Amino acid sequence: MAKVSINLATGSIQKEEIIVGIDLGTTNSLVAFINPDKNPQVINDTGKGVLVPSVVHFGPAGEITVGNEAREYLVTDPQNTVFSVKRLLGRSYHDIENYKDFFSYKVIDDDSESLVKIKVGDKFYTPIELSSLILKELKARAEHALKTPVNRAVITVPAYFNDSQRQATRDAGKLAGLDVLRIVNEPTAASLAYGIGLNPEETKTIAVYDLGGGTFDVSILQIQNGIFEVLATNGNTFLGGDDFDSAIVDYWIEKNQLNKADIIADNKLAQKLRLKAEEAKRAFAYQSLVNDKIGDIWCTLDRNTFEQLILGKVQETITCCQNALKDAKIEVGQIDEVIMVGGSTRTALVKKMVAEFFGRPVHDEVNPDEVVALGAAIQADVLAGNRSDILLLDVTPLSLGIETMGGLMDVIIPRNSKVPTKAGRQYTTSIDGQVNMKIAVYQGERDLIKENRKLAEFDLKGIPSMPAGFPKVDINFLLNADGILKIQAIELRSGVKQEVEVKPTYGITDDQVEQMLLDSITHAKDDVSQRMLIEARVEGEQMVKQVEGFLRKNSDFVSIAEIADTTKYIDKLNAALTSGDKDAIHKAIDELNEFTRPFAERLMDQAISHAMKGKSIE
Ligand code: ADP
Ligand code: MG
Repeated sequence: MAKVSINLATGSIQKEEIIVGIDLGTTNSLVAFINPDKNPQVINDTGKGVLVPSVVHFGPAGEITVGNEAREYLVTDPQNTVFSVKRLLGRSYHDIENYKDFFSYKVIDDDSESLVKIKVGDKFYTPIELSSLILKELKARAEHALKTPVNRAVITVPAYFNDSQRQATRDAGKLAGLDVLRIVNEPTAASLAYGIGLNPEETKTIAVYDLGGGTFDVSILQIQNGIFEVLATNGNTFLGGDDFDSAIVDYWIEKNQLNKADIIADNKLAQKLRLKAEEAKRAFAYQSLVNDKIGDIWCTLDRNTFEQLILGKVQETITCCQNALKDAKIEVGQIDEVIMVGGSTRTALVKKMVAEFFGRPVHDEVNPDEVVALGAAIQADVLAGNRSDILLLDVTPLSLGIETMGGLMDVIIPRNSKVPTKAGRQYTTSIDGQVNMKIAVYQGERDLIKENRKLAEFDLKGIPSMPAGFPKVDINFLLNADGILKIQAIELRSGVKQEVEVKPTYGITDDQVEQMLLDSITHAKDDVSQRMLIEARVEGEQMVKQVEGFLRKNSDFVSIAEIADTTKYIDKLNAALTSGDKDAIHKAIDELNEFTRPFAERLMDQAISHAMKGKSIE
């Protein structure tokens, strides 16, 4: 017998559980749902407001606050307050080292390609865990407002997010106790909120201009048969409304003949000025002059001056639009619709310049802070099968992926992907001189392959002998319209290749699929924690191997005392590896890393001076 749930907020009987749409933003996040009148609506949980600032604060006793309250701590307790975590999601230290000074909290420099970690107090957090705290808050607000459990969601990401960033977003959802039905591109969601792309008959080319707090992106999308194809994206990940605020602050500093360095040194005052500047910027929506004071600092600004201050920044975004069109090989006249997204598009000058550039009025009827979440809610409703007007394209019911180190499932085609589809990823070897690579293909939602269903296994043979990490093995999955999965593995340096075909739906019933999905939801949290532990272990084991190898090969560069100390750190890491405590492992990795870092640098200096000696001068 099927369970019937009653929605206490609306009094209606709910056959389908509510699926929410979530905009997990760099500055602000929010959640929306489809109300009983079939309209998308944002959730405003009893006076807390719609927007949840994407900020997490850790108190001295480990208490966690998220949102508006946490934002206050950005001034009073910056080391323990994490903001802009979306910038770190699915990224390695190498990806972000150029802008590491942007963060006021500690991002661990492990000088590696593995995903970054953040240290708060003496605990280590991954961006996945931190994002999950924001998602948990959104889930709780939705549940409180709707008076019903919320377990399923669609989450949006920027169109330029890569595989690893999307997977990290999924994992954050899982960790928050959400079954993530689909990851949707933000511009696609915005377009759906305007009803564009809902009619499978229409063909359109659109531009989505998204200017948020700290980031700008523009996407050119082609919509055909209900499929959104991203033709090009462009933007600047360090340009947004925050720059408008700083331009105003700088102007006030100059007008009041203050010393900028003094202001920066006085954190509280700097923050007050920044907030006043943001207030002024917003006020220009309905007034043309702001006249205010902080102590004896005059905060006066008129709209014309404001527009002059930000003109250069807005012009930069227009250049990005130009470049996006060029990459998409589209003339500006071929754009059918222009959609405005992000709080900063409320600034009149932004709207005016974008409309001028595209030569047409822009869409700004839907609240630009909310448009992405509203569109995500529509997408969720479509996936729930609640919209008879929309044809749901064939999708793959279970994720498809391969086994990676530690027995983990690495998803290549996520479930609910439209069929036909293709996706691929690059792997490498873990042992020096490895000439064969086992490729095991699995189906399912669990993080450990042993809980999933094995579809195929084969060896990619004849990889030329190279050091570990050198071979480049591309694994491509192609799922065709008949549900046949073609798996291709190719080592790019040598061209060695192997292919197999399977039919994932063969020998599995709908009930079994449903059971697998249910299991994945009940075990989601444990699965993600286990995955994180295994990943930490794999990283730790590799580190031990690497350092031991280094000591063996380069004993000349390290003193006997240093070797003895290094061995102590290795022992400590080995002990942590068996402890089953991922924080202890990360801590030990970090310590070993810090201790051995100078060795590698010394070696490098030596190598350079050797090279110089070898060079002839003539
Ligand atoms: P994100 O997508 O990065 O999370 P949002 O879309 O929420 O960011 O945009 C936040 C930015 O919008 C902030 O810089 C904020 O100052 C700006 N903003 C909000 N309202 C207005 C307004 N009325 N006028 C100008 N800027 C605004
Ligand atoms: Mg946004």
